[in-house]
Amino acid sequence: MRWLLRKCSRCGRYTLRRDKCPYCGGELIVPHPPRYSPQDKYVEYRYKIKKEKGLI
Ligand SMILES: [Zn+2]
Repeated sequence: MRWLLRKCSRCGRYTLRRDKCPYCGGELIVPHPPRYSPQDKYVEYRYKIKKEKGLI
């Protein structure tokens, strides 16, 4: 649900496709670990800051 993006192992572009890269036809990999990642934490942190500033 969360990591819908796939990354092409050949050209390095991101796509929502699951079978193959729409740009070069290369194999797709999941660029993020399926569970918790440091990036997650960072996003949550930024969200918190925004909320505290009343932007959300
Ligand atoms: Zn590609």
